[in-house]
Amino acid sequence: MCKSLNKISYPRCHSSNLYRFGKDKAGNQKYQCKDCRRQFTLEDYRGKKNRVLRGYPRCPVCGSGTYLHHDYEYYSHYTCNSKKCGHSIYVAKPINIPSASCELIKGKTDFKRMRFPLFLILTALNLYYLNGSSTRRISQFFKLTYNVKVSHVTIASWCKKFAPIFLSIANRLTENLDLSASDEWHADETVVFINGKKHYLWLIIDSETRMVLGFNLSPSRDASQAFSLFKSASKFGCPSAIVTDRLGSYNLATKTIFNSSKHIKVQSFKDDISNNLLEAFNDTFKDWYKRKRGFKSFESANTLIAMFIFHYNFLRPHYSLNNLTPAQVAGILIDEKNINNWLLSA
Ligand SMILES: [Zn+2]
Ligand SMILES: [Zn+2]
Repeated sequence: MCKSLNKISYPRCHSSNLYRFGKDKAGNQKYQCKDCRRQFTLEDYRGKKNRVLRGYPRCPVCGSGTYLHHDYEYYSHYTCNSKKCGHSIYVAKPINIPSASCELIKGKTDFKRMRFPLFLILTALNLYYLNGSSTRRISQFFKLTYNVKVSHVTIASWCKKFAPIFLSIANRLTENLDLSASDEWHADETVVFINGKKHYLWLIIDSETRMVLGFNLSPSRDASQAFSLFKSASKFGCPSAIVTDRLGSYNLATKTIFNSSKHIKVQSFKDDISNNLLEAFNDTFKDWYKRKRGFKSFESANTLIAMFIFHYNFLRPHYSLNNLTPAQVAGILIDEKNINNWLLSA
């Protein structure tokens, strides 16, 4: 019995590592592949040997066709038909991958009937995100400097309320931005607390412009979070290399979403001098975050972090970039007058 089973191989993956798996309705013997868990009968493949499977990728190594080895929720795994080659190809299914939290900022995108001048709002954002001032201190500063009364509650609301508008501006500004020419994008996670509960802030940063390309806030460190993070950054192209720590969650996400990038795994970013860009971000972020002593809700944390990153990318001058912003280094010109025009047309 075992011998006869050994002669059969599954036409899709050529494995002969099979179980008998009962019979189908027509009484044909069913098998299950131990390697890819697919079930089949030999009837399924009669006369289909030379069937052309449309939409399957060609092998980038040897040019042969491929077969679908296994279909997963977030990606399909194809394998080269040439047994000698056997190359694996991973193709992402972006529709199935959940959006990263940075893509889920909701709220008004309308700046009309703003009671305060724009410069005051931008000054508040600079004091809040650059200087780490509290909203009460900013309120005092406005009274002393401009003799304008703005309550700390109003200032706190600015830091969140305008997030959807700033993010839609950021999206418009980076619409045609392609950072594929970059050597490396670095991904990492940092811990934040929301209501006392541990969360991970997943980040991906371009090494050349220092632009934060996406973030994903999540209570979990599982692989689906890395898929979400990478999907959010994939609109900026595909860099030469993706650099991550050794967390296994990055492996398949890199193979599928950045399938032409090299995946460089480092032991720890602290050991690698060239990886100081994540350190730089983390220092800046932690400096701001520690004054907040944690966040109160997921939504508020997500919105404040989105604004922090907008500020980091578009408004904050970086010493390491000769006091330019990452956006300026990426060739995006932005100044207050520009923002004003965008806001008026928002
Ligand atoms: Zn198989
Ligand atoms: Zn091949």
